[in-house]
Amino acid sequence: MTDLNTPDLPGHPFIAYQSGELMAEGLALSALAREHGTPLFVYSKAAMLSALAAYQRGFAGRKAQICYAMKANSSLAVLQVFADAGCGFDIVSAGELARVMAAGGDPAKVIFSGVGKSRAEMKQALQIGIGCFNVESEAELDVLSDVAMSLGKKAPVSLRVNPNVDPKTHPYISTGLKGNKFGIAHESAVQVYQHAASLPGLSVVGIDCHIGSQITEVTPYLDAMDRILDLVADIEKAGVPIHHIDFGGGLGINYNGDTPPAADALWAQLLAKLDARGYGQRQLMIEPGRSLVGNAGVCLTEVVFTKPGEQKNFCIVDAAMNDLPRPAMYEAFHHIVPLQARTGEAVTYDVVGPICESGDWLGRDRPLVVQAGDVLAVLSAGAYCMSMASNYNTRGRAAEVLVDGTQAHLIRQRESAFDTFALEQLV
Ligand SMILES: *Cc1c(COP(=O)(O)O)cnc(C)c1O
Repeated sequence: MTDLNTPDLPGHPFIAYQSGELMAEGLALSALAREHGTPLFVYSKAAMLSALAAYQRGFAGRKAQICYAMKANSSLAVLQVFADAGCGFDIVSAGELARVMAAGGDPAKVIFSGVGKSRAEMKQALQIGIGCFNVESEAELDVLSDVAMSLGKKAPVSLRVNPNVDPKTHPYISTGLKGNKFGIAHESAVQVYQHAASLPGLSVVGIDCHIGSQITEVTPYLDAMDRILDLVADIEKAGVPIHHIDFGGGLGINYNGDTPPAADALWAQLLAKLDARGYGQRQLMIEPGRSLVGNAGVCLTEVVFTKPGEQKNFCIVDAAMNDLPRPAMYEAFHHIVPLQARTGEAVTYDVVGPICESGDWLGRDRPLVVQAGDVLAVLSAGAYCMSMASNYNTRGRAAEVLVDGTQAHLIRQRESAFDTFALEQLV
């Protein structure tokens, strides 16, 4: 039975109520909150692996490499889970490369995306020997060739092409349309490929695209694939062989009744198109981020005060926009549910944090039965939460726990106030 206090949690297969207690796999979240304090991020390892398994099923029998887009959640133990499962990584900075190495990832399976790679970052990545640079401009090609030559190396490159399809998502997370900063225009791609092939420090290995994030429809992917395959044909006709095709990431998750296709169902359709067009046996790559971790995590937060008001009632919690930036940044919706069922009359609250900003809210108009001291779970908090967290208001970042069956591993300690200013100095 579904009631307001212990609703079903669609999209969160490993986080569910049992006898009125919210559990992550075999552990009660209330016990983790008591032991580690709040705010606390809790991730289910099984949920991550089952999200990955949907992609692996989709690619069974194909040459495909899954590169987890680690900016979604770059905590070392999360990377370790994916590295152990055979994933490579899509990185966007030398800092992320350092994390891959610290987590035991294979540098040969790393691809380096981003519009503004510095010479120092290029050099580090070349010395470590990453698998591919996903290049986003002609200027970057020239600089990368130069840096590679100075090291006596050839940089493996793929060009990120802008397929100019509308993923029908939030404007801040749409990346494949004309007029945004990412990628190379479809019309100039052949000419830029010829330029890349002529540069002595580069070796052209692939093509890539990434059309946006939180995509919940199949059509934008099918359209982008058609556009990319048209280009592959043109580029190869111009004499530049393309060894791998990388379709980026972007598959959405269920935040609030969203119905994205399952990864295996999406890829069944995409592979049918690849087969029909004769590209089914190519080396394929993808760069999923959110869809691997988003619904594997929750953020636990304690109610500090409830504050009735004339127009609004506020439920003030100890997590804030520095921990969970998505509502403030994108007006994103996260379900907020109690850890333990409580009976009583629901009151409609805005759930807000303690930070001195009106934008510091986690949820609006939420019916809840709560009192101070209760612990709530903010759902769908595995992606783009901790990796975007800050120290604003000198708040130490939250602790993180990885649950594996009935075992809990503390994978990040809570930051103290001292940690937040440890690198500063008085004059
Ligand atoms: C952010 C990003 C991804 C991952 O996007 P998700 O929506 O989290 O799957 C993949 N590739 C590139 C280039 C990115 O910038």
